Amino acid sequence: MTPPCQPTFVVHADRVLDPDSGRFVPRRIEVRDGTIVSVAPLEAGAEERAEVWDLRGMRILPPLADSHVHLYFEPWPLDPKARDLPAASATETDFAHARERLGEAFHAGVGVLRDLGDPLGISLTALEWTANAHDLPRLIASGPGLFREGRYGRFIGCPCADRASLLEQVRALLADPRVQLIKLVATGIINFKKGGVSAAPPWETDDLKAAVDMAHAAGKAVAAHGSGEAGIRRAVDAGVDFIEHGYFISKATMEELARRDLVWTPTFAPVHAQWSHAERCGWDAETQMRLRGILDGHAEMLRFARGLGARILAGSDAGSPGVGHGGGLWQELWLLQEAGSEPAALLRMATLQAAAWMGLGASCGQLRHGRPADFIAVDGPVEQDLRALERIRWVVRDGRVSAARKPWLESDPEAETYGLQPAHKEF
Ligand SMILES: [Zn+2]
Repeated sequence: MTPPCQPTFVVHADRVLDPDSGRFVPRRIEVRDGTIVSVAPLEAGAEERAEVWDLRGMRILPPLADSHVHLYFEPWPLDPKARDLPAASATETDFAHARERLGEAFHAGVGVLRDLGDPLGISLTALEWTANAHDLPRLIASGPGLFREGRYGRFIGCPCADRASLLEQVRALLADPRVQLIKLVATGIINFKKGGVSAAPPWETDDLKAAVDMAHAAGKAVAAHGSGEAGIRRAVDAGVDFIEHGYFISKATMEELARRDLVWTPTFAPVHAQWSHAERCGWDAETQMRLRGILDGHAEMLRFARGLGARILAGSDAGSPGVGHGGGLWQELWLLQEAGSEPAALLRMATLQAAAWMGLGASCGQLRHGRPADFIAVDGPVEQDLRALERIRWVVRDGRVSAARKPWLESDPEAETYGLQPAHKEF
């Protein structure tokens, strides 16, 4: 099963994720110069001219997509109060670490990342590194998120004093060809001690709507950070395309989100990390219980949203305390599975649907003729249990093969020491 060294080969596999049926079926995949030139039924005994890579026994699927990451942010230590502020280290150090995190995600099989905010512009520079690399994920980025001055948001973006300044910054971002979508910070964050979002929403619906209209006129989508019903409702009414987090959303607003065909990324992972490591994060027993209640309520909302047919994506919020790059998406998928989503539906969500809804449908998310030869090989029944992701073996981009590596997970006790010395666990 030695992988090919050149990006021209033929894969023989008996379990390839079929984009139409969503099932794993036997396929012969022909790759020429990094592009898939044919996907056909696998026939026994056919003579091959190109090198054959026998992946029978493995599950072959497109690389997974994480719809919400912060590349520039170090996920450890777990205690949010012990974190470095943005720009605490030298710029070169920040850049080197961001590159390590990209590699970590890629080797965990997460081949598509959407960065939703950094104040330093690292994610926009990272677009240059990732564009033609064979061992880094495909990346899209919003650049800095835009937040109301004096309110929540300095960890993910730039402050705006008022509506005029918000619109001015949106205009400036839209003029930057690297910016693929606009990120607005439409609410505060969860106050874990109080078990809710205590701050009033920072923007009026009209402020958000003006920004959304400007982005849409330029053909760009808008993602809104939103937790707490009041602010989420304003973002939904303003017509944003993506609601990120969505903690404490009401059923009525979720119905409106589904009716408007907006996309919700629930990001269970960052709250789960605080709950499962409550003591190390400095939370008392009462707060830990509240965190559990928040997660349970969110899981119930997930089931309600699925019942409505709402569009939902898997996004980890990697970079949040305890949410690693690559490993965070595994964790998020496991939590979505625990909340009752079927593994096969989640695989579709994290591949085909993610690529389509994030505007990358033409280049990734499906194994089809004419697409780049991007796929992962997993030695376990992922369609039955996403825990099998731990048995990922190979990661391929543009026909170039890399051995998979296990990412840091929230549950790894030694992850705390990962910090400034990126290193990877070996299988
Ligand atoms: Zn985030």
